Amino acid sequence: MIRQRTIQKSVHTSGVGLHNGEKVTITLKPAEIDQGIIFRRTDQKKVSEVKASPDAVKDTKMCSAIGQDTSRIATVEHLMSALSAKGIDNIIVEIDGSEVPIMDGSSIPFIYLLQTAKIREQESSKKFVLIKDVIEVKDKDKWARFEPYDGFKVDFTIDFPHPVFTESTNQVAVDFYNESYITEISRARTFGFMQEVEYLRSNGLARGGSLDNAIVLDEYKIINSDGLRYEDEFVRHKILDAIGDLYMLGHSIIGNFKAYKSGHELNNKLLLALQSHKESWSLITLNSQDPKTSDLANRYLNSMNGILNQEMIEVYQ
Ligand SMILES: [Zn+2]
Repeated sequence: MIRQRTIQKSVHTSGVGLHNGEKVTITLKPAEIDQGIIFRRTDQKKVSEVKASPDAVKDTKMCSAIGQDTSRIATVEHLMSALSAKGIDNIIVEIDGSEVPIMDGSSIPFIYLLQTAKIREQESSKKFVLIKDVIEVKDKDKWARFEPYDGFKVDFTIDFPHPVFTESTNQVAVDFYNESYITEISRARTFGFMQEVEYLRSNGLARGGSLDNAIVLDEYKIINSDGLRYEDEFVRHKILDAIGDLYMLGHSIIGNFKAYKSGHELNNKLLLALQSHKESWSLITLNSQDPKTSDLANRYLNSMNGILNQEMIEVYQ
């Protein structure tokens, strides 16, 4: 059987929040079978916990934030994306502030942190969400959709009215049973527009943003002197975000996620739609010995443990 995963030992890292600009430390700790992904704020008198779930998402303005007002934790999506990529089912994320640090704006620092903690397989089978029917949500011209697929694929299209965005770099599809999250997605950084910075800052957002943790665009061009990490880094970052948003389910998805101009809000709406259409999916386990699921099981294991997930050292610079 494919087993649930946690980490072997506690690890921590520090950085600043993209939006609040405050220095925070996060500590990742092993968790028990079926515990899920637990965020725990430790900087307040009363320690508060929030379990990752579609309902836990309370704010989707510029990031995905979970929890209630005083126990809020913002910008969880890049860490969630890394947890999804490493197939972590159970983990405790302790944080001494209200926002997960932005690090370099991508998820590779979190992948690196998880690699340091080492993965531990647990004595219980891992549950996957198997998409059986199309589920779609729309907001004007934007849409996000799940379709049945024998693996996990993300197909994303963006469209910004800005000269840097071209048709050839606005769409990417990645099939994660054949392609590596680490090489294809994990290094893609968050991005923002100069024109919006002042407005965002006056609303208490983007205060920790800098050229060290974001790609910044003025009216015509990218202002970071070292350019892009991928030719189509913007859409790849949207895939990174979507994978993190979808992992609020707490389970890996077997299906195809397709999106046009989607973001945190619509990604979350799709999860809520999924929850209310129980006939369109089921929770399954995979077993290499079971002829019905052996093919998926072997391909999943290969993507997790094979070369696709071992490329850390080469790409981390
Ligand atoms: Zn992001």
